[in-house]
Amino acid sequence: LRSCQRLPKVELHAHLNGSVRPQTIKDILDERSRAGEALPVTEQQLADLTAGGERSLRDCFRLFDLIHAVTTTPAAIARIAAEVVRDFAADQVVYLELRTTPKARPEYGMTKESYTEAVLDGIDAALRQLRAAPPRAASQQQLLPAGAHAAGPAPPAAAGRPAASAEPGAAGPGSEGGGQGAGEVASPSHAQMVAASEGVVLSPRAAPHASSVSSSSATPATPAAAAEAAPAPGPGPGSGPGGGVIVVKLLLSIDRREDAAAALETVQLAARLQPRGVVGVDLSGNPYVGAWAQWEGALDAARVAGLRVTLHAGEVVAPEEVGAMLAWRPERLGHCCCLDAELAAQLKSSAIPLELCLTSNVLTQSVPSYPEHHFAELYAAGHPVVLCTDDSGVFGTTLSREYAIAAAAFKLPVSALHELARRSVEYTFASEAEKAQLRQLVARELAALE
Ligand code: IMP
Repeated sequence: LRSCQRLPKVELHAHLNGSVRPQTIKDILDERSRAGEALPVTEQQLADLTAGGERSLRDCFRLFDLIHAVTTTPAAIARIAAEVVRDFAADQVVYLELRTTPKARPEYGMTKESYTEAVLDGIDAALRQLRAAPPRAASQQQLLPAGAHAAGPAPPAAAGRPAASAEPGAAGPGSEGGGQGAGEVASPSHAQMVAASEGVVLSPRAAPHASSVSSSSATPATPAAAAEAAPAPGPGPGSGPGGGVIVVKLLLSIDRREDAAAALETVQLAARLQPRGVVGVDLSGNPYVGAWAQWEGALDAARVAGLRVTLHAGEVVAPEEVGAMLAWRPERLGHCCCLDAELAAQLKSSAIPLELCLTSNVLTQSVPSYPEHHFAELYAAGHPVVLCTDDSGVFGTTLSREYAIAAAAFKLPVSALHELARRSVEYTFASEAEKAQLRQLVARELAALE
């Protein structure tokens, strides 16, 4: 292993609007300002939006509302989806399950359906662009599953965005005490751990959110045009030889603010859009809002429709709700930060795979520090876990960086990182045939690194 960036990785917990490039938010606002529109955010809010770093969970949800106030058109949504796919491809993610909350915005002429179609159009446009880019490795081409595409090399680091020096592996004591902007590691001692961890030396960061998009001077007329207009990644540090390969699936999220009828509408939409790559349903949103009984019926309907289900659970202390979620037996869970001993034991005996987002949990103070993250206990117990980014734009991270942080915080040898990457394939919502192909792809990529 020469770097976590080169590992073939699987991303299973990434929210579309939380993965937006900060520069794209600025671009969209610039376009709206040039069109004479009143802007939905103040200068201060814009600064907050694009700053990255440490935020309480409550602040995060205020931030998401602001992002949603900016990303209101199908064209903007398609552009963001396309950029997010390319960013993950540039980080050597070979399989991405992106999730997003379908939003009805009648004031902008957007329905849940047109919103979701814009997301799917953006994904398709990115995949078309990536398919046209040079393949990364001949061995991968032979193994491409249906819907897998060759990704171009990583984007260049943009001015003003920390690149190599912001990587955990590269951060030294000199970075201590500074602000925790995007790209910086929250705990200096943690940064030192990453630097010290054996063999985990990150390549200079691919800076996936940093590629300049200022060339798009006007909002394209259609979502597809918007997605095509967003520039493809150019050559840059951190890219593998020739680019990457990525398969993309979509999960539709039920927002905890939604009532039973709205939740069911999302599930029905997900069921209709299965032929376009929607494979499941997620429950997410502000954990201080709503109650399990509101969504259980819709989630039952998802199961009947053949959709897989993942639930955000235990982001705050909510033992009854977590107990009900475990009893419902979703295919995966996310977070589970605030479980008492009894629930933790139930989780372990359930063997339900858990999506863990280290940076997100630490920056939002859902867990006190990286070394104290429950990854350690669950991993030691052999519980199925998968490292994920959550909101790479909001928290200024990448999946490579999450692997490097895990390596440092939990003293994982390179072989353990390889095993984590290998096992993550098993927790995807891909079909058995796709999993078989992914297994081979990941095995071959890892063998090339060993
Ligand atoms: P979107 O669904 O693409 O709009 O992505 C942003 C949304 O994802 C937020 O408004 C939340 O509903 C959800 N989300 C993102 N991060 C978290 C998290 O850490 N916990 C719960 N929900 C989240």
